[in-house]
Amino acid sequence: MIRAGGMLVMAVAKGQIQSDNSYQYTCGNCKGIGHFMDSKTGEYEDCTHCYNLDYDKLLEAFRLARGERYYAILKAILSLKGKAIADSAIVRRNANANIKLTIADLLHLLMEFNFPRNRFKPLVEWLEETRTLPIGVYNRIHDSRFKIADGLKQLGYEA
Ligand SMILES: [Zn+2]
Repeated sequence: MIRAGGMLVMAVAKGQIQSDNSYQYTCGNCKGIGHFMDSKTGEYEDCTHCYNLDYDKLLEAFRLARGERYYAILKAILSLKGKAIADSAIVRRNANANIKLTIADLLHLLMEFNFPRNRFKPLVEWLEETRTLPIGVYNRIHDSRFKIADGLKQLGYEA
């Protein structure tokens, strides 16, 4: 289950993490069809909760989405890339001498998957959910007042 900051998420369909860290989720807004047909014009419009699983459109919407739509978009993103994110994190973790992920690794992951820079939290929480990271890492980073933008700049990413 994707944590929702203590908020009960009612209208967004439930997803499920599989043992291989993939995420099984079907959009509840369109029942997985991905689009709606306008009954007057006959034109198709993307479902604004899953964008027919177009990753680029999902990322663009993810940056500013709020509330239910935010959680639906996050779940759609994880259904596409959740396993790849966890797999990449595991490769990075295993390349480190102490077999632990660093904040730099997490920032590289954010950029590798083109996440909006304001969506570091759900990325880290996904790694916690899949047990790729220990639970509580995001909270510790947050409590340390670490600045994502500064970290990215130090790693050579454009502001
Ligand atoms: Zn949908």
